[in-house]
Order: sequence, then structure tokens, then C-alpha cells
Amino acid sequence: MSNPVRVRIAPSPTGDPHVGTAYIALFNQAFARQNGGRFILRIEDTDQARSKPEYEQGIYKALRWVGLSWDEGPDVGGECGPYRQSERLSIYKDHAEILLEKGSAYPCFCTPETLTELRQSQEKAGKDPRYDGRCRDIDLKDARARIANGEKAVVRLKVPREGSTLFHDEIRGDITLQNQDIDDQVIVKSDGFPTYHLANVVDDHLMGITHVIRGGDWIISTPKHILLYNAFGWEAPSFSHLPLLLNPDKSKISKRKSPTSLTWYEEKGILPEALLNFLGLLGYSMEDGTEIFDFQTMAKTFDVSRIKGANSVFDITKLEWLNGMYLRELGTKELAEKIKNFGVSYPDDATLEAAVPLIQERIKYLSDVEERLGFFFRDRELQYEATDLLPKKKKDPVEVGKVLEAFRVRLEAFTGEMIPADVEALCVAQAEEMEWKKGDFFMALRIAVTGSKVTPPLCESMEILGRDTVLQRLAVAVEKLKSFVPTQ
Ligand code: GLU
Repeated sequence: MSNPVRVRIAPSPTGDPHVGTAYIALFNQAFARQNGGRFILRIEDTDQARSKPEYEQGIYKALRWVGLSWDEGPDVGGECGPYRQSERLSIYKDHAEILLEKGSAYPCFCTPETLTELRQSQEKAGKDPRYDGRCRDIDLKDARARIANGEKAVVRLKVPREGSTLFHDEIRGDITLQNQDIDDQVIVKSDGFPTYHLANVVDDHLMGITHVIRGGDWIISTPKHILLYNAFGWEAPSFSHLPLLLNPDKSKISKRKSPTSLTWYEEKGILPEALLNFLGLLGYSMEDGTEIFDFQTMAKTFDVSRIKGANSVFDITKLEWLNGMYLRELGTKELAEKIKNFGVSYPDDATLEAAVPLIQERIKYLSDVEERLGFFFRDRELQYEATDLLPKKKKDPVEVGKVLEAFRVRLEAFTGEMIPADVEALCVAQAEEMEWKKGDFFMALRIAVTGSKVTPPLCESMEILGRDTVLQRLAVAVEKLKSFVPTQ
């Protein structure tokens, strides 16, 4: 293949691994896989103050957790490295030189104070703030002499004053910007570090990127990038800007309003397959309208023309629904395995596998499990108060204690198997004998046996717990109620 497809993601390691990075990565990887191309991960860490190695590691870990993988990158190597921008500074320096020599860029000596004054006066005059180009025509030789003398300078792109810059977005069509609306962008900062624009374009070119597929928030930068490609005399890659992700209130996705850290999803117990499916749905639809699809299916049938043009609301309830669907699809053993790997200890596999079907239909997240199944593995008698044992309308601890004790005795005397229907019959008989409503009786019994008001079906749970445990917990509850009475 003469021009093999090469795509990339270029995250900046400046915070927790962002769900948006996985979203963009998913589309790039799907496109690469479908076209037999390569998917590259480049770390854009030129913001020295905010970039941290642990954030970079966090990106790798989280993307791998979601199930994504790349063919080239700082951690896996490749032929176009280094893949970390902080290791490519001399490359950017050389390329800035090329632009200076060509007259496509110029050193600018304006101090931050000068720029602030300029901005303020423009704002006062009701104009959009922009650099007025006062250093544009300084002779390069003079400029170099000033720099050699120790004067600080940035390098700016000399954006044409006239005309317009057009690019074709594969998703959104032609996009044109008047050049007069584009600022003379800083491409090298006074500390010698490149800005995003220069480093991004140089790297995309040198790494042979054929298709840039990135978030909609970068559309505004693309004309600047096109101007840079033109200035270098390079062919620009094709551009596709994916739908922006929005908070439910339609503002741009932010951690104050939506969970943005991939770690949150992992800790919540979202299955990576469900998250990937959800991220796919945010920007894409399958031809037959199927909402549940895996990466392989998406990659096999991937079609850029099916990428949504509009922005997408990040609807966490949809993810909740999807996660539930994926959880329900799992076999008992598989789900039990995932529950065990989730981090809470469930020491007895047989009990876990027996209990899993009782909750499989009800959980939305793996993190829901402990609350519902923990009582099978841990005595919770210390977690509830005697008053919790009193059903709403049965306020008398003596009476509740009596009924639980009577049931304890009845169960002790029961010699049959703990079959749910039979245990239920015992419960009903007990409630009737004491002239209690069934609901009240089951509630007191539920709390005594499980320590919780919300549990899987009680008789099935008692079958799994076994008679001895149930008897023992009933005895604890009765004791608790007895010691409670005198303090009234
Ligand atoms: N470093 C940019 C980011 O953090 C890369 C944007 C792009 O893909 O060009 O997303």
C-alpha cells in the first residue's frame, strides 16, 4: 500500500485519564483496523507546568482497561519516535527555523505588559482582541541580533492578512475562515518550547499521519494548522472532527457536571465493553440501528459517513442501561468472576455463584453488588441498630423480639431442606400465628438476617445462607432487641 492509513490520538498528560480520550481513541482505532492501518499514541506534553509522568501512565492504564491498544507510542515504540513531544524539542526548533527563514514566521518581542495593554485598548474600542502585528516587519537579521543580545522573543506565524483558509471536514463538509479573523499564532514560546499548533502539525507530518480524527473542539485550530502545512509546503492530512461531548445542560463536558475520569468508570464497576459501546453510540450509529455492538463489529463495518454531525449529550443513564444489559448477558460464572475481580473479597465461590442469579437482573454497576450480596459473606449484626428491626407499624421491641424468637424456634424445629417455598410457608405461618401482616414480618426478618432493608429475595437468600447462619443471626437480633428494651 503506497499510503497506508495512519491515525493517532495525541492526549496531553495534564490530569486524570479523560473519558473523551477513550472516545476519540475508539474512533481512531476502529478506522485504523478497518483500513488495515496503524494507530499511534503520541503524548503531547509540551505544557511543562501541567504535564506529569503519572498522568501519562494513567492514560495508558485506563485506555488498556477499556480494551484499546495502539501500534506505536512512547510505551510500545515504533519507527517514528520519539512519541513524547518533550523528547522532540530540537525537531520543533529546526522547524521553527525553517519558517523563520522562509518568512512565514517572525520573532515577536512584545512583552506580556504590552500585550495586555493592547488587549485592553482593543476591548475598550469594542474590537476582538488580537495581536496587531507590530513585530511582523522587523528584519530577521535585526531580530536575531536582539535575541543574541538577550532579549526575549516568541515566534509567531505570519498569517496572511487577506483571503481565507478552507479545509474539508469529512464529517462536517467545507469549513472556511477569513484569514483576518485568525491571529498571528504563537508557535514557539519565549522559553523555546513549541506551542500545540507547531508541535502537533510537525509531528502529524513527520509521523505520516494520513487522517486526523479528533474532537470537535479542535475545529477552530484546524485553519491555523492548514496555514502551517501551507507554510511548510506539506500536504495536509484529511480532517474529521467528531461530535463534541456535552453535559446534560448542553455545556461542554466537564468534571463538575459529568464524570470525566476513566478511573471513575472502572471504580464504579462499569464493564469496559459497555463503556466502549456507549462511547461508540455517542458519535456513531450502526446501519441497522443496533445499539448494542462490540468493538470488532464497529471496526468491521466502520463508515465515516455514519459519524454523527451534531454534538452529543453525555447521558450517563444510557450508560447505566447499557451496563445493565451487558451484566445480564453474562453467564453466572463469568459474572461471579467479574465480581471477584472488582476488589471486594467474596471468599466462598460456591456461595457467590449461588447468589449471583438473585441479583443479576437488578444491578446496574458492579459496585452495587457488595450492598446486595455482602451479607452472605459478612455478619452485619453490628451495622444495624435494634430500632432498625422495628417495621414501620410495629414499634414495640418486645413484640418484635417475640416474633423473631418464635420464628427462630420454628426454624430450629423444622427438619426439612431449606427450600424457598417451604421456608416461605414457615414465615407465613409465623406471621399469621402472631397476627402480623406478612410485609411487616418479612421486613423484620430481612433486617435480622441480612442487616439491610433492600436485599435479594429473602427466602432464596436464606436457602443459600443455610439454616445455621439464619438461626445464629436471628439469635443476635433477639438479643439486640432485649438489650434495647431497658433503655426505653
Ligand atoms: N493535545 C491535544 C489534546 O489534548 C491534541 C488535539 C489533537 O488531536 O490535535 O487533545
